[in-house]
Amino acid sequence: MKKTMITGLALIALTGLLGGCATGTNTKKAATASSTKTVKTQTKRQKLISELPKGVKSTDTALLVVNKWHKYNELRFSKSTINGIPVRSSIVKPLTAFLDGAKAAGYPATLVSGYRSVEYQKTVWDQSIQSYENQGKTAKQALKLTQEFVAVPRGSEHQTGLAADVMNTKWFNANGSQLLSKSDQAAGQKWLIKHAPDYGFVLRFTKTGEKSTGIEYESWHFRYVGQKSAAFMTKHNLTLEQYVSLLKAREKAAK
Ligand SMILES: [Zn+2]
Repeated sequence: MKKTMITGLALIALTGLLGGCATGTNTKKAATASSTKTVKTQTKRQKLISELPKGVKSTDTALLVVNKWHKYNELRFSKSTINGIPVRSSIVKPLTAFLDGAKAAGYPATLVSGYRSVEYQKTVWDQSIQSYENQGKTAKQALKLTQEFVAVPRGSEHQTGLAADVMNTKWFNANGSQLLSKSDQAAGQKWLIKHAPDYGFVLRFTKTGEKSTGIEYESWHFRYVGQKSAAFMTKHNLTLEQYVSLLKAREKAAK
């Protein structure tokens, strides 16, 4: 939106410089078109803000945004385990229901990862770089590849305890226990992605959200946000970053 406005202003400035030359009319038309686009984008945003679920706040714990632009030191909260995997205690119930739901639908799922400490994330990061280097990549290439899929230490939402890597068990076992985006071709993974919002989870790193999240598409990484938020985010294809930004705008307008 900002970019569109800048383009519009630049065009107006250009008209001024060229003053009176034939391209002036076309430039004016282009400027009008881009300002119409800006208004449309603003209207769409306003409409979304007016439809946001009631009683949800940007400061709710379940909506904590941790990414490469919003890093945190080790957070403190109560933890429990599901099948030996630590998660934030507050999501044990919904996550268990999600896994049970998958099983009942005929698609048993495996909880691969939940809470990870900042320290552990650093290990994952270092190991990823090392393994790319072992494959013959340069240090620069290894860093670039790692950045695509591994969250930077202090910037992984696994440290919130609200994230869960969940895989269709059959696909996971048949594919060497790997987390690969093509797992979304499996009926069981499709079920998880489709039904996650029923249990308060969203697929956190979508194909269309890569710019907003800073992480490439991951068909296995689910994030607890609560049912109301999950339904809204899914319906409007919003990343957590975009959703929280809308909530903040609503709160600012209410002040
Ligand atoms: Zn994950």
